[in-house]
Amino acid sequence: HSQSPPGGEEPSKGSGTMDFGLKGRHAVVTGGTRGIGRAITLALLDQGASVTVCHRQESAEADALRAEFAARDAGALLVRADVSREADARLLLDRAHETFGPVDVLVNNAGIITHLPLAELAEDEWARVVDTNLGGAYRMIRASLDRLARPASIVNITSAVAEHGMPNAAHYVASKAGIIGLTRALCKELGPEGIRVNAVTCGVIDGTGQKNPRGEEGKRRYAEMTALGRLGEPAEVADAVLFLASDAARYVTGAVLGVDGGI
Ligand code: NDP
Repeated sequence: HSQSPPGGEEPSKGSGTMDFGLKGRHAVVTGGTRGIGRAITLALLDQGASVTVCHRQESAEADALRAEFAARDAGALLVRADVSREADARLLLDRAHETFGPVDVLVNNAGIITHLPLAELAEDEWARVVDTNLGGAYRMIRASLDRLARPASIVNITSAVAEHGMPNAAHYVASKAGIIGLTRALCKELGPEGIRVNAVTCGVIDGTGQKNPRGEEGKRRYAEMTALGRLGEPAEVADAVLFLASDAARYVTGAVLGVDGGI
């Protein structure tokens, strides 16, 4: 961990030794080759779940995840699928279903950001970001309806900026706020079928790939904005996802769980 909280103690090792009862469950995670999605994927595998993961493009990170899967000899599948395309979302769910059966857990994590003041935020860039982040979650949930087990848990990854705002990323903030609305709407609509729908709002998570003009000075300022005095770790988001995916959260739906160090 790169930052120590004010008390000087390192954060605990987290879920490593906890059993969330997810052994034998099947999870689909979008955008799992890097950052938070990768941490969620590995945490689910550590719990004994089978995981189907998607990414958009070939990369060194995708190769590394494939190597990690091979080394673990675990129930894991990496599929190239772009969540901004309906056919890809369907293909991903079909591949997942034929490989590991009904999907118990769907984690909508894939997301993109650009930093542009409104005057420079052209309509095609607005559409690209909203259609990946919010549209991707909508598309994946819709495509999963006949592939989900009952009961099932859907976890949508969103951001603390959806609630607090942030300058120079109106498309991103709007898409992430939209995910909260989608979560609350579908909690009501899918609850009667036994499908829980929750959201996790991440604060600033260290060591992730989202292009944020941070630098060491930026990190320090973000850390100061939190009650715990440090940035988050991808594994700390993953722990919240494990909880929401698990039967321990069986009466939790429509919740928006902040994993933001008290920002
Ligand atoms: P990264 O940029 O590190 O990773 C994004 C992942 O999503 C990659 O695996 C990428 O794959 C994949 N991806 C991107 N676009 C698509 C697409 N169209 N279809 C399928 N996969 C796609 O992101 P982070 O780990 O930083 O963030 C993960 C989520 O958490 C996002 O939704 C983000 O908005 C949210 N979040 C992150 C915060 C942070 O501090 N990092 C703070 C708040 C929220 P590929 O390489 O193939 O494009």
